[in-house]
Amino acid sequence: MKFSFASVLSNALGGNAAWPAQWRSPEPKASYDAVIVGAGGHGLATAYYMAKERGLTNVAVIEKGWLGGGNTGRNTTIIRSNYLWEESEAIYEHAMGLWQELSTELNYNVMYSARGVMMLAHDRHDVETFKRHVHANRLAGIDNEWISAGEAKAFCPPLDVSPTLRFPVVGAALQRCGGVARHDAVAWGYARAASAMGVDIVQNCAVTGIRRDPSGAVAGVETSKGFIGAKKVGVVAAGHTSTVMAMAGVRMPLESYPLQALVSEPVKPFMPCVVMSNKIHAYMSQSDKGELVIGAGTDAYTSYSQRGALHISEHTLEAICELFPAVRRLRMLRNWGGIVDVTPDRSPIIGRTPVAGLFVNCGWGTGGFKATPGSGHVFAHTLATGEPHPIAAPFSLDRFRTGRLIDEAAAAAVAH
Ligand SMILES: Cc1cc2nc3c(=O)[nH]c(=O)nc-3n(C[C@H](O)[C@H](O)[C@H](O)COP(=O)(O)OP(=O)(O)OC[C@H]3O[C@@H](n4cnc5c(N)ncnc54)[C@H](O)[C@@H]3O)c2cc1C
Repeated sequence: MKFSFASVLSNALGGNAAWPAQWRSPEPKASYDAVIVGAGGHGLATAYYMAKERGLTNVAVIEKGWLGGGNTGRNTTIIRSNYLWEESEAIYEHAMGLWQELSTELNYNVMYSARGVMMLAHDRHDVETFKRHVHANRLAGIDNEWISAGEAKAFCPPLDVSPTLRFPVVGAALQRCGGVARHDAVAWGYARAASAMGVDIVQNCAVTGIRRDPSGAVAGVETSKGFIGAKKVGVVAAGHTSTVMAMAGVRMPLESYPLQALVSEPVKPFMPCVVMSNKIHAYMSQSDKGELVIGAGTDAYTSYSQRGALHISEHTLEAICELFPAVRRLRMLRNWGGIVDVTPDRSPIIGRTPVAGLFVNCGWGTGGFKATPGSGHVFAHTLATGEPHPIAAPFSLDRFRTGRLIDEAAAAAVAH
């Protein structure tokens, strides 16, 4: 039985879409060419591109909660591609190209808004670091430019650039094509388009085990609804990748941390772009509903709790109020947390694993939303062919054995 988008929607809204008997049976009555674990943006985009570009529709996306209920629906939606190293530039710029046409591609308004992402420099170290990025990006043909403090103020009038600030703004790197999109629309757009091509999307169905055949290859997944056979399994379960991969006996170089965000009460449009400050840890944009969207930091300790320590948010708000004094009297509307999984070199892992038929896409840490279309696109290639896409090849799990790391730790837009 194929799930229609309507039944998916019904589930997401807490409806009573009936489960077909085979999902409750202990016997493996359902079988797929590929099962994707996790219906976040990355998993759904993977299914979409497998169907669209490879003609593979005998695919299921298995989700323990609801569509986009993980980090995809919890992030601050910042999109940019001005990373430092060539490998990162390639994958984030690949995604950037796909973002520009995504609403048309999916016939679903993902509200991608190229309003510009400005990364503030507060001292000489910042200036040199960001100028290095600007030069590296321009060599690669990627949009990024250096602007003065005065130009930063002109680009974002509410920003305080007075020299008396404790951490004065001395310039900024600006990526004009960077911006934001509506996060859950990305999940829904990919889900609807994949479902329309025949992909099954199964919510409220936790993967509890990965079954392997006598040769050691993947045979399918055990779930809370029963066993689902699969020739290939792609794990795209951000924050929980280690626990899912452990079901197949694979130990991952990942740590999971809570990461928080919050929004203010809605106000009229006053924030025209995205502003980020690594030095004092603050980033903010304004949603189309009028809320100021503010990202906090990761907790100092690993955890699977989808909330974080209050002092982490308080610290962020202190920094925001220093940069934007006009927001000091605003009230916070709500806050939340997600679980991000982080690799030692702060770059993702995309590709094969030591288990035949088992693939993984993870480790996007605090910055994987912007990669969603590109990540899904290259992972679809890997799942379909069994070989890494050229853009994804440097991000192999094997790099932690060879030492060929892609160290983006120092390149983060904000230090988490
Ligand atoms: C507060 C916050 C702010 C962020 N801000 C930004 C930002 O501004 N820009 C940016 O680029 N990135 C940002 N990120 C990071 C970004 O959200 C993630 O990197 C990205 O959304 C990951 O997408 P995903 O599809 O891989 O994961 P998810 O959307 O988390 O999807 C994984 C899915 O796997 C499911 N799952 C887990 N275990 C199982 C199981 N056993 N069985 C079945 N399903 C399972 C989960 O329920 C989940 O739905 C932020 C993250 C957070 C938490």
